[in-house]
Formats: sequence, structure tokens, C-alpha cells
Amino acid sequence: MMKRSWLLWLTMIIVVVFIPLKVDGQPAPLSFWRQLDALTPTLTAPTSSSQSTNQQQTTADGKQMTPTESIVSDKTLSPTYYYTFASGMTASERSVFQRAVSIYNATGIVKLIPGSAGTSDNAVTFFVYKKHMDKSQQGMIEAGHGGPKIIQRLGVGAYTVNKARAGLNVSYPQYGVKLSVAIHELGHALGLDHSSSRRSVMYPVDQGETALAQSDIRGLKAIYQGE
Ligand SMILES: [Zn+2]
Repeated sequence: MMKRSWLLWLTMIIVVVFIPLKVDGQPAPLSFWRQLDALTPTLTAPTSSSQSTNQQQTTADGKQMTPTESIVSDKTLSPTYYYTFASGMTASERSVFQRAVSIYNATGIVKLIPGSAGTSDNAVTFFVYKKHMDKSQQGMIEAGHGGPKIIQRLGVGAYTVNKARAGLNVSYPQYGVKLSVAIHELGHALGLDHSSSRRSVMYPVDQGETALAQSDIRGLKAIYQGE
């Protein structure tokens, strides 16, 4: 029986966000496997013209909307998530993710609950990692990465679930563990893509923004309320 049920896992899609930030004005290649996400401190941010950002989308009534990851845009996802922390994280690292969770919960659109998820529940795993940039990155620092991972079970008992991850690069303690980056990476985990608006928390270069823009809220509604 177990083997048979595994055959029903017909689709397993991993989305990774890979956004090399400074590529001499060339758009970054977007591949299906996208998970590395580069963000930098504002001081070293290149101008917006050299950024690879997605187009700002609009809602049906013409309002700006933060784009959504293509793999979640045609899915029906529950707004409820269970979140856990990877082992070995410090209290301050956990705290910054907790604050990001509070900001998303305050929208009333999604509901993130501490604890382990069941097989058919959405989940977010928070983690930290260390990645040093080499000279070729030209001063760009990857501050974190994150993204959704959609699993669809078809047939009897069908469901679609997001087993997402959001991580912070802690190799550069001089920049601290930034709430704005945690919000950005959790946004990816929940299905938001990059925005060309600097006021969006999903702008690809860290602006220190810790409040969701109206366009971000519309993006979340598009994913979780089908609006
Ligand atoms: Zn990003």
C-alpha cells in the first residue's frame, strides 16, 4: 500500500529563486529551479536599471500587485502554514523570523502557526546558512534565499501543498540579522516573486523595508484568496 501511494505523488516541483544581481544590465536567467536569492545592503545596491526585476503586475481593476511565483499562481493553497526552525539557530535569529511571521499574520490573509505540519499541511522551515561572496560578485552580498516547493497529490484524497523554506545568510554579522530580509524570504516562501517597486518588500535589493506594501498584500490575496 505504501508503495502504491507513493506512485500518486505525480508532481513535485521545486522553485528556487536565483537572482544574480549585477549582471551588467542583462536580465538574469530565470530557470525552473530557482532558489538562490541575492540581496545586498542598500549601500552597495546598484541602480534599478541594472536590476533584474519582474514586471509589476496589476489586478483586474488596474492596481499594482507584487508578482506571484509562477508555480503557485495556478494552485489553490490553504492560507494556513505550520512553521519550524532548523536546529542550532540562535534566539535572535529565531526572533527575527518570528517578527516576520507576525507581519504576515497581521494581514489576515495567511495564518502561520508554530509547530510541525502534517503531510497535507503547508509548512515553512526557517534556517540560517553561511555563504561568502567572492570577488566576482562585485560587492553584492546574498542576504538570504527562500522559496515555495509545491507538492501535488492527485487522485483520491488529492491535495496541493507548499513545503517552503526561508533562510538568512549569517556570514556577514556586520550587517546583522535583518528583519527586512526575513520578510523578503518569507514572502518568497509564501509564493511572492520579485517586484520592481522599491516600496515592496519583494524588491530584489534590500531597502530595509519592514512594512508590506499594498501591492504585496494584493499579491498575497491573489495566491490565497484567488483575487
Ligand atoms: Zn528575492
